[in-house]
Amino acid sequence: MTTAPGALDKAKMVASDLASDILVDANTAVFDEAAMRKTLPEDLVTRFKECARTGAATSEEDKNAIAEALFGWARAQGAAEFSHWFFPMRGGGGAVGGMLGALKYDAFLDLEFKPAFPASRLFGGETDGSSFPNGGLRVTHSAAAFTSWDRSSPCFVYEKVLRVPCAFVTHTGRCIDDKTPLLRSQDAVDREGKRLLAAVRGNNKGEVVASVRGYLGWEQEFFVVSADLYKKRPDLVNCGRTLFGRLPERHQQGDLNYFGPLPPIVDELLRNVQAIMLKTGTPMTVRHNEVAPGQHEMSPIFCVANASADNNVFFMEACAREASKLGLAVLFHEKPFAGINGSGKHANWSVQTSDGANFFDPGKTDDQRTLFVAAVAALAHGLCQHNELVRCAVAHAGNDHRLGAQEAPPAIISLHTGTYFEQHVDAVISGGPLLGYKTQKKFADPACNAVMPVATNVEDRNRTAPFPFCGNRFEFRAVGSSQNCSFPVMIVNTVMASGMAHLADLVEKGTSLRDAVAMTYKKNRHVIFTGNGYSQDWPIEAARRGLPNLHTTPLAIAEFERGKTVFKSMKVYDEDETLARADVMYEAYNTALLVEVETMINMARTGFLPACARDLATFERAPEFAQDRRDLYSAIKTELATLVHLKNKVSGTRPLQATYICNTLKPQMAKLRAAVDAAEAVMDKDFYPYPTYDHLLYTH
Ligand code: ADP
Ligand code: MG
Repeated sequence: MTTAPGALDKAKMVASDLASDILVDANTAVFDEAAMRKTLPEDLVTRFKECARTGAATSEEDKNAIAEALFGWARAQGAAEFSHWFFPMRGGGGAVGGMLGALKYDAFLDLEFKPAFPASRLFGGETDGSSFPNGGLRVTHSAAAFTSWDRSSPCFVYEKVLRVPCAFVTHTGRCIDDKTPLLRSQDAVDREGKRLLAAVRGNNKGEVVASVRGYLGWEQEFFVVSADLYKKRPDLVNCGRTLFGRLPERHQQGDLNYFGPLPPIVDELLRNVQAIMLKTGTPMTVRHNEVAPGQHEMSPIFCVANASADNNVFFMEACAREASKLGLAVLFHEKPFAGINGSGKHANWSVQTSDGANFFDPGKTDDQRTLFVAAVAALAHGLCQHNELVRCAVAHAGNDHRLGAQEAPPAIISLHTGTYFEQHVDAVISGGPLLGYKTQKKFADPACNAVMPVATNVEDRNRTAPFPFCGNRFEFRAVGSSQNCSFPVMIVNTVMASGMAHLADLVEKGTSLRDAVAMTYKKNRHVIFTGNGYSQDWPIEAARRGLPNLHTTPLAIAEFERGKTVFKSMKVYDEDETLARADVMYEAYNTALLVEVETMINMARTGFLPACARDLATFERAPEFAQDRRDLYSAIKTELATLVHLKNKVSGTRPLQATYICNTLKPQMAKLRAAVDAAEAVMDKDFYPYPTYDHLLYTH
């Protein structure tokens, strides 16, 4: 149950006549507010929601009643087990499973084999946490870790298991997951959002809202390939991406795959997933082909950010599971194939009140317009003052292949407000009023009789910016496809909350709202950039403005510690939790890269070199044809030997290892790959030891 109407409730309200056809399956397997109201007394549901909002404990009596109702409801849905479902901190993307949540399946039975689901088992759990990354927050011999229900993300039934979305903490309450900090950041948005509202609307007008929250609507990109071919590639199985492979002659030229009709088998997969998502409470409303061959995208209707982050993780799981039933495999890695587009996960994010006011809606009333101008100032402050943190939000091994290439935003974090709004910012800085930004519709006129002009937003889209304005939200475009959205949204929530606190502080100390907003824009003006983020001049201009360009993960993580102060003041992380997170990010980076290196070495030794030998043997009687091959093939041997030599030198602390891997091992991986790919261009295709790019990309 969400603090504002959930996406599904909204869908029911606005689309009732389409319900059975498109959006709403009446037998939803989600224990949302509507299901609660059907099974529990009205006042209890209200009390429960109120406790989730304020942080008060749900009484023992209410807990018992909820557990009993949930048990009955889950049994009626066919559930025989329940599972606390939590999201261990993994330190970034997790292309081969790390992004999926953790589950421990428990039967609804007590020790006498009688059916039972006591409140104590619904609301909390204790488990052995020793094998989850903790960044030093737990010592090895103290293994206990605890799960506790996130009362603002609904339980649901999938494949006969009741899932209970949970926070995951140590014995002392330290967070060792992605959800807990996100929930804390939602509390920060609530606290500071209300202060900003008071500053904008004037205190004590009796207009205090129940809650303010971050909202999220994700767009998930992914590739779909044949499961048989996938299993024959150790690099895909181990690393989620190809470490070798030559592009086919026809690949992405012309962007012909973009919005093309879905191949029937992929269409079937996506429809199956859509049905599961709908049944478990998430209406998926968009599906389409993406730019690269074999690449696709889906997105749901947005909802409160922590529930949305959960349903994205579930989407990835359901997608993988359904794919295997159809003989397919889904790739969530940020860059499964070199030379063509990788995959992202645009996080559409906004801040909204429980009564529906959206801080990023440019608005029709003066109150809303003022709120918008102030909220964007708060965001500019957050992105500028804590720029490195926002970069860290999307820093992990997989995303390093994307950020900075000409397909994803650069690694420089800037704010795209739209060009007209940028002019308004300058007018405010020069003393102008907060009101005055005009949002009236413009029209694109196709200029032919049969077609009428079409209304457009006042601001154009910007696809080269990491953080563009999209009419009623900002779209954090730099998020990697394999990431759990919780971490990036937590960071964005936190920096936004700090910006709102900054404005509220000024106003509470007597500065007028106009001056506070103008001062904030002036101080952070240089983070606003509405030009072309792909242009070669931008990094130079960004450096002149003093914006960091942290173009690798180790460079980014090294700055994470700077977040200690803001994380603490926004009550999101204590200092030790900040340091632990950085440690886990290093660990994840090093592990991902070292598995890649080992896999490369193994594939070269057991796959490519034998293939080269076989290929050369066929030229025994025509050695004049073999010379160029011999040179190409021996380059593989040389580059392989160097990679093995360099790999054996990895040592030192995690940060030192990360820097070495990034600066020394990665370039050598690229050299070995180049040698193998050059060999592929001449080798008899029957000897190539793995499925090639053309087979993988044109499976369907
Ligand atoms: P695009 O045209 O950018 O590809 P899509 O339609 O694929 O957009 O996805 C847009 C996403 O943004 C959807 O998940 C949608 O629900 C979400 N969204 C729309 N408005 C908001 C908002 N105010 N806050 C958060 N997310 C939103
Ligand atoms: Mg889209």
